[in-house]
Formats: sequence, structure tokens, C-alpha cells
Amino acid sequence: AKAAGKGRFNFYSAEMTKREEHRLELETALRQAVEEGQFQVHYQPQKNLATNRVSGFEALVRWQHPRLGMISPVDFIPLAEEMHLIDRIDMFVMRQACRKGRQWRDQGYDICMAVNLSGVNFSRDDLPEQVRQVLEDTGFPAENLELEITESFVIDLEVDQREVLQRLRALGVKLAIDDFGTGYSSLSYLKRLPVNTLKIDRSFVRDIARDSRDMMLVSSIIGIAHSLGLKVVAEGIEERDQLAILLSQECDEIQGYLIAKPMPAEQAGIFLNGASAD
Ligand code: C2E
Ligand code: CA
Ligand code: CA
Ligand code: CA
Repeated sequence: AKAAGKGRFNFYSAEMTKREEHRLELETALRQAVEEGQFQVHYQPQKNLATNRVSGFEALVRWQHPRLGMISPVDFIPLAEEMHLIDRIDMFVMRQACRKGRQWRDQGYDICMAVNLSGVNFSRDDLPEQVRQVLEDTGFPAENLELEITESFVIDLEVDQREVLQRLRALGVKLAIDDFGTGYSSLSYLKRLPVNTLKIDRSFVRDIARDSRDMMLVSSIIGIAHSLGLKVVAEGIEERDQLAILLSQECDEIQGYLIAKPMPAEQAGIFLNGASAD
């Protein structure tokens, strides 16, 4: 019995070591990726339902590691946050997106760019200055840049972090609440924050064509948002039936595989033909 116990212990510790090794490897690779700028940016079109045109794109980071292959942001963003590398990744993506957005605007397409900003960035109070610098360097108009911040982060903002949001708004950039509906039941925080847009999480719109309660819920979210003067984007739209309902509920914009998956800039450029020319 003693021997078996010992064997089991060794088995578990070997497993632990393997997992720790993998994590260590990922940490080293991530640090190197940040140093060398190994990331790409993919763009997913957003479609305005009133005009039926592409109004802009969400920029999403991609990491193709030479040996480990494609690593999902779902796996490396939390690690990057823990390692305090996320600010460099987010600013890299923002710079790329604004540079590309400027090129597309120069070609005559009136488009916006949405960029994800981890809540971790808000502990640095030079964030607005960094954003201002990106706008200045790239010449992308502030009012066409929308920063997406997750609801789970904004619900318990501290006073000085809320001030950072105010300073970002003062630059002229727009603010969106990402993954809306997945945080808390109280919506009172919406009153306190200078936001422009709600992005309804995919989990709420997935079944709207089949479940009337989901449909009512989304319909009320859209109503509340509009009464507060906010724009609504529905995320993760995959089916025509979902689109039809959102159209009838006067949702402002949709984003999802039904329009297109996120893709490299060269391919995303095709969707500019569906954008409105200036
Ligand atoms: P998110 O910001 O909610 O982005 C939407 C995610 O849903 C993207 O996954 C997108 O590819 C996916 N998606 C879009 N349309 C559909 C659809 O119709 N069906 C389904 N099933 N999925 C759809 P992705 O690119 O893997 O990113 C995952 C998450 O990683 C993002 O969720 C965001 O939280 C984070 N992320 C991605 N890029 C960045 C970044 O540059 N900075 C930060 N801080 N986070 C990022
Ligand atoms: Ca997002
Ligand atoms: Ca989202
Ligand atoms: Ca999400």
C-alpha cells in the first residue's frame, strides 16, 4: 500500500511538472512574442442595419507561434494580463488598426475601428496619453476609434479608473461595453460611465430565433440602450433568422460569421466595397 501511495504521488507530481513546464514555455514564448512583435491583427466587419453597409471593423489579435502553432487569444490574453504584458499587446493592436484604418479612410471609405482594451490597462494613468499618441502618429480620427472594455471590468471601476475613462472620452474616442449582459444584473453603472455603445454578448442572441424569452430580453436591452442614447451592436450573429429579428427590433449593428469571420487586412479590404464612400 505504501508503494502504491508513493507511486500515485509521483504520478501527480509528474503531471504537475508537465503542466508547469508548458506554462513556463508559454510564458517565455509570450515574452519573446511581445519583444519581437510576433502578433498579427485580424479584422471582422461590423454591419450597420439601417444603411445595410459595413460601418467598420473590430480588430482582434492573432498569435501564430513558429512551433506551438496558432494560439487563441482566449488562452494567451489572461496570461498576458497576469504577466503585465497586455498593455503592450493592446497598444500594438491599436496602432496597427489605426494605421490600417487611416489607409482605408484615405481610399475614401468612411469606416470606424473597434479595439479591445483589457481592464488591466486602466491601472496606468498614462493610458489616455498613449492613445492620443497613436492617434497623432497614425492620423486616424479620434471619433472613429471605439475602445471596447468588458462589462465585468467596468461594473466595479474605482474613481480614478473612471477618471481615465473620462479622459479617453475627452480625446474624442468612443467607448463600448463589451460582452454586455454577462456581468451583473444592476444596470445602474451605465448612468455613471461615459459610454457610447453596448455590445450584446453572443450568449444572449444565440437563440433569439427559437426562444421567445431570449428575444424579449434582447428587445428590452435594445430599448434601454436607445433610451440612454447608446448604440447597440449584437455579436456572434451566424444565422439569417437572428438577423431578421434584430432588424425588426432596430438593433443598430451586427457582427458575426453571417457577415464574415475575422481575417487579415488584405482580405478584409474586400468588405470596404460594402462600406459607404465619403
Ligand atoms: P470578444 O472581444 O468578445 O471578440 C469576439 C470573439 O467572437 C472573437 O474571438 C471572434 O472571432 C468571435 N466571433 C465573432 N463572430 C462570431 C460568430 O458568429 N460566432 C462565434 N462562435 N464566434 C464569433 P477571438 O478573436 O478568438 O477573441 C476572443 C476574445 O479574446 C475576445 O472576445 C477578446 O475578449 C479577446 N481579445 C481578442 N483580441 C484582443 C486584443 O487585441 N486585446 C485584448 N485585450 N483582448 C483581445
Ligand atoms: Ca470585443
Ligand atoms: Ca464580446
Ligand atoms: Ca468575449
